[in-house]
Amino acid sequence: MGALRITEVRTFLVGGSWRNWLIVKIETDAGLHGVGEATLEGKEATVEAAVRELARYIVGKDANAIERHFQEMYRRAFYAGGEVLNSAISGVETALWDLKGKALGVPVYELLGGKTRDRIKLYANGWYRQGMSPEQFAEAARRTVGLGAKGLKFNPWGGRRGIDFTRLENRILNDGIESVEAIRAAVGPDIDLFIDCNGIFQTTGNAIRAAKGVERFNIGFFEEPVPHENLDEMAYVRNKIDIPVATGERLFTPFAFQQLLARDGADIVQPDMSHCGGVLSAFRIAAIADSHYAAFTPHNPNGEVSYAAGVQLAACVPNFFALEHFPPEPWRFQVCRNEMKVVDGWLEIPDRPGLGVEFDEEAAAEHPYEAVDLYNLHRPEMAPKLPRFGDRLR
Ligand SMILES: [Mg+2]
Repeated sequence: MGALRITEVRTFLVGGSWRNWLIVKIETDAGLHGVGEATLEGKEATVEAAVRELARYIVGKDANAIERHFQEMYRRAFYAGGEVLNSAISGVETALWDLKGKALGVPVYELLGGKTRDRIKLYANGWYRQGMSPEQFAEAARRTVGLGAKGLKFNPWGGRRGIDFTRLENRILNDGIESVEAIRAAVGPDIDLFIDCNGIFQTTGNAIRAAKGVERFNIGFFEEPVPHENLDEMAYVRNKIDIPVATGERLFTPFAFQQLLARDGADIVQPDMSHCGGVLSAFRIAAIADSHYAAFTPHNPNGEVSYAAGVQLAACVPNFFALEHFPPEPWRFQVCRNEMKVVDGWLEIPDRPGLGVEFDEEAAAEHPYEAVDLYNLHRPEMAPKLPRFGDRLR
């Protein structure tokens, strides 16, 4: 294909309800543009600066040579690790895939082997902001399943007042277990329930106690039972519990996932499309997972460009699991227009070129950046600010 010369890298901070989206837009001399997302929750302005530094390298280059540019940005830059630099690279790399797909007139998944499925199973997150009693959890679960959700993810312990991440008192542990029991009773045996510990248990012993307490409710996975830094301890917990372990939203690049899986540290890997290195890194991570008989699903809490990139991977990788789905901001689809549809809890795979999303700069400008720290998300006072599912799942 003919050269597509990159003329400009532009960034947009869009104020979401509990984190800002960092959208990266790459312009070319052919009039085509591509978009990617580099959202790093709570650190978006830091990543924006890193994207500007990447622009020094990439402006003037041919947009087609995606892998060459990845190697230059990642390997040749000498300092290669961490969430800030990898998020910046992810945003740029994803925008190049969007561009290539648009230039060729095909969705990105067609460039990665084509579809391995016709629709994508969703599971709901962010559906239970109203309170943490068993009754409140059960009511919210019933309502969300009524909207078509086939799976529900939640943290039954994280938002509880007085929780101590090292001590884990029986009162907190038992309240969480009772909530899981109430949710299972409310939705019946066939709905998938997933527990995200968000790495709150800071001893392996407490992570194991918590898992043992809920094993009998047929939990589909137990996510980040311990923090992400020590892969040996993640593997230790997985070896001790009878629930599959999911992790990876805070791991970056195929190297980290290779080390996780070499230790048998996960059943399901969850790289974030905005942090892991981008489309081809996610594809490689899925392949590494597949070779360890582990499943793949993108961590998916951010903006619509990141969502669309996850959908492209979900469409084509053979070991895809199910896609996380949060309640959208009421204005989300004005800022990021697309044709993705949800029918009865399943997402229909779109067939528009590239990522299939049109980013509207003017609509985005109506939602300016506001500094917010991610750790505030789990505080009860945040609840009124968070989007909720309306009368449908999307
Ligand atoms: Mg998580």
